[in-house]
Amino acid sequence: MAVKFAKRLDNLEGSAIRELLKLTQRPEVISFAGGMPAPELFPVEEMKKVSVAVLEEQGQVALQYTTTEGYAPLREKIADRMNTKLKTNVKADDILITSGSQQGLDFAGKVFIDEGDVILCESPSYMGALNAMKAYQPKFIEIPTDNDGMIMEELEKVLATTDRVKMIYVIPDFQNPSGRTWPMERRLKFMEIINKYEIPVIEDNPYGELRFDGEFLPSLKSLDTKGLVIFLGTFSKIFCPGYRLGWTCAAPEILNKFNICKQGADLQASTISQMEVNKFMDMFDLDAHVEKIKACYRKRRDVMMKAMEEEFPDSVEFTHPQGGLFTWVILPEGINAGEMAKKCLEKDVAYVPGESFYPNGGVYNTCRLNYSNMPEDKIVEGIKRMAEVIKEELAE
Ligand code: PMP
Repeated sequence: MAVKFAKRLDNLEGSAIRELLKLTQRPEVISFAGGMPAPELFPVEEMKKVSVAVLEEQGQVALQYTTTEGYAPLREKIADRMNTKLKTNVKADDILITSGSQQGLDFAGKVFIDEGDVILCESPSYMGALNAMKAYQPKFIEIPTDNDGMIMEELEKVLATTDRVKMIYVIPDFQNPSGRTWPMERRLKFMEIINKYEIPVIEDNPYGELRFDGEFLPSLKSLDTKGLVIFLGTFSKIFCPGYRLGWTCAAPEILNKFNICKQGADLQASTISQMEVNKFMDMFDLDAHVEKIKACYRKRRDVMMKAMEEEFPDSVEFTHPQGGLFTWVILPEGINAGEMAKKCLEKDVAYVPGESFYPNGGVYNTCRLNYSNMPEDKIVEGIKRMAEVIKEELAE
């Protein structure tokens, strides 16, 4: 074709996960591949009542444009919820409603990144964020991680020796893809480093409220004294993703830039979606709903952990997440998780090979498993089949 595309698209490909998900649509496939919530927990009956109430009580408002910042009562509730759940001290004015937190990730790139600027991130990190930010032509530097998340000494080393670091992207709670959580000492150390270098931080936190066990840990935003942390939240995992509602919480100067991006992208998030989610919180108990989600995922996590302990060879390592949706499997060196995924798919089991979670590539023996979206018996069966394939790979 003779048309010429923008240079910024040169390094962009469709998400590997989205391609893979197409193959996992067959009903017989046991899929650990997506990051999807359990649909049987969606409050469908409640939302029928909610939508009728919104249209009967405020139909004309619901079907009209609203402000770019978002529907005021919903912003109030989000600020209150953050202050209660995450120990922040924020106001409704600090919140911009976005189309999922994914849109906030795109805006972060748009706001901070010129071609060749450096983004620091955990290695591995959420590929959806990396892909969104890639459009702004950054260079990614991956900071090594261990079982407690980003290694702060490594971060310090990189900051001390690298020019043009414009932004740090992190997921400190139940990370996607690894399921890991940073302990308190790391959070404090991180903030100390950040305050020294004064670099903006994107704290992506879709899973923080989904803690099944262990102690609550404060968000980076709640530890931020200089207005450097830009917090991204979402209703996708504590409620449902279909409304596409998330938010950005940041200092006024920064939020103003995000607001300008929002105006250009789509003017505002859907008025009726915002009003329905707001109304759900008036008519029903979101906390109780979150508890139901946690109880279900905790069981599924336990079943997956037990099955992996029983079935996987000892040379396979995996994380033990205290919340969230994912565990991360490290296969013995030499096993290629991408090749192995094809063999698993022949046995109707799917997962995401880890390679695409490393922005600079080069790691082939990891994979991400999701446990929120499959019933317990299928989790056991899927892990059994995966274990058979791993054993075959090791025997080769
Ligand atoms: N950040 C992370 C770490 C995620 O895992 C996801 C979704 N899987 C998102 C952001 C985007 O979610 P949403 O746009 O639905 O809020």
